[in-house]
Amino acid sequence: MMEHKLYIDGTWIAGGPPLEVRNKYSGEVVATIATAGKVEVDAAINAAVRAKTVMAEMPAWQRAEILLRTASLLREQADDIAATIAVEAGKAIKHARVEVDRAQSTFTIAAEEAKRLHGETVPLDAVPSGVGYFGFWTRRPVGVIVAISPFNFPLNLVSHKVAPALAAGNTVILKPASSTPLTAVKLCRILEEAGLPAGAINLVIGSGSTVGEWLITDPRVDKITFTGSPAVGRHILSVAGLKKVTLELGNASPVVIAADADLDLAARRCAFGAFYNAGQVCISVQRIYCEQQVYQAFLERFADATAALKTGNPLEDEVDVGPMIDSREIERVTGWIDEALAAGAQRVLGGERQKTILPPTILTDVDPTMRIVREEAFGPVVSVFNCPDFENALRQAGDSRFALQAGVFTADLDRAFNAIRQLNFGGVIINDIPSFRADHMPYGGNRESGLGREGVRFAMEEMTTIQMVAIRTRH
Ligand code: NDP
Repeated sequence: MMEHKLYIDGTWIAGGPPLEVRNKYSGEVVATIATAGKVEVDAAINAAVRAKTVMAEMPAWQRAEILLRTASLLREQADDIAATIAVEAGKAIKHARVEVDRAQSTFTIAAEEAKRLHGETVPLDAVPSGVGYFGFWTRRPVGVIVAISPFNFPLNLVSHKVAPALAAGNTVILKPASSTPLTAVKLCRILEEAGLPAGAINLVIGSGSTVGEWLITDPRVDKITFTGSPAVGRHILSVAGLKKVTLELGNASPVVIAADADLDLAARRCAFGAFYNAGQVCISVQRIYCEQQVYQAFLERFADATAALKTGNPLEDEVDVGPMIDSREIERVTGWIDEALAAGAQRVLGGERQKTILPPTILTDVDPTMRIVREEAFGPVVSVFNCPDFENALRQAGDSRFALQAGVFTADLDRAFNAIRQLNFGGVIINDIPSFRADHMPYGGNRESGLGREGVRFAMEEMTTIQMVAIRTRH
């Protein structure tokens, strides 16, 4: 069994008591990893502070080369990394492979963006007081970035923090989710091999309430970039002080199905978007609002497409839906389903848990005040609503305190633009599910879904500060 270490200041060190990492399908311990105490967290912050100048002064072409080498090493090690994701996160191997492909794109895009990070001139003579001055602004790296990531995309969500941070000339202290640290170890090894200087990336492991807390409250940290639950996001904002903060939080993603929609496409895509990674995706399909003329026809197609999904060991090629991250989460989601059933909901598909797996569950006739609708379900369960018309469907879809991404299926351009106007979400996806994401697009939520945007170029904007220069040209 592998015993992993922390990575601090370019060295792999033993650290404190080891944390056991389990195979989420079988429950067996597959590796251990050292945890960080206060001393190691301090050392990681010191190393990141020391490496600030090295990274800030590294030419753009060199940052780009390191990022490109990282992408290429990810490609070489894709099979091994995908298997690690499947084991430690329980993600079906076919989807884990896609995650590794996407992480390669994320690093490649970051390499390209490293060369495009620039400001612009400012015509200072636009006002009388600016006459006789030449003005321009540039972007400077913020400095030390703490990156805290969740369990559900242990590679690509880490990449969405680390790649833009390095592309913009920052240093990073990475704290991955305690349940999925192994993929982060592999990424750090690759960054080391790609030639990243000591201290530019530091990996610390440990619980959010200790290691996380020390990191987010340390005054030497310039920025926190966090993806995770709304409760922790809110807490980070309350204790971060004057640090820059980006928060990618939860959602209860809606889909609207118009009467004119391509129902086969909608059913197929919703079955994928609701249940891949066992629904543990922040843009997982959770609420479907369907116009009544096509409600029954959609529901039948959707139930058929869902019934065709294969559950089981995520390492098997044909499996679509693997385990949930832990028993506590299965019990939480099961409790919410039972609560909805007790209040009159019908179960179209689903059933008892099979050890670590909760079968894909479709509910109808759900009371919209139930937690399974109002809160983020973050599990393999979706509620389908029968709506009198398109306007009503849109209104219900938008009625949420979360607003990350929404999907709308319609063949009518007017309806599509009506939806775009009415749905004040970070992203609106027409003729596809809210689960769509390309790694260079701006991505992030409104309201309780977060603050700021990721998507490499947009993350880099959040990871830099603007410096204005005014040069007096006439004396
Ligand atoms: P958590 O919020 O439980 O954990 C996320 C990370 O925060 C983990 O590394 C965790 O550490 C750490 N953490 C916990 N408490 C603290 C603290 N007090 N200070 C600092 N760090 C802390 O989320 P999950 O891992 O359960 O992920 C699921 C959530 O992530 C869902 O709400 C989901 O919507 C959201 N998410 C959002 C995405 C987006 O892009 N908007 C994408 C993916 C997920 P530890 O593991 O040790 O507890």
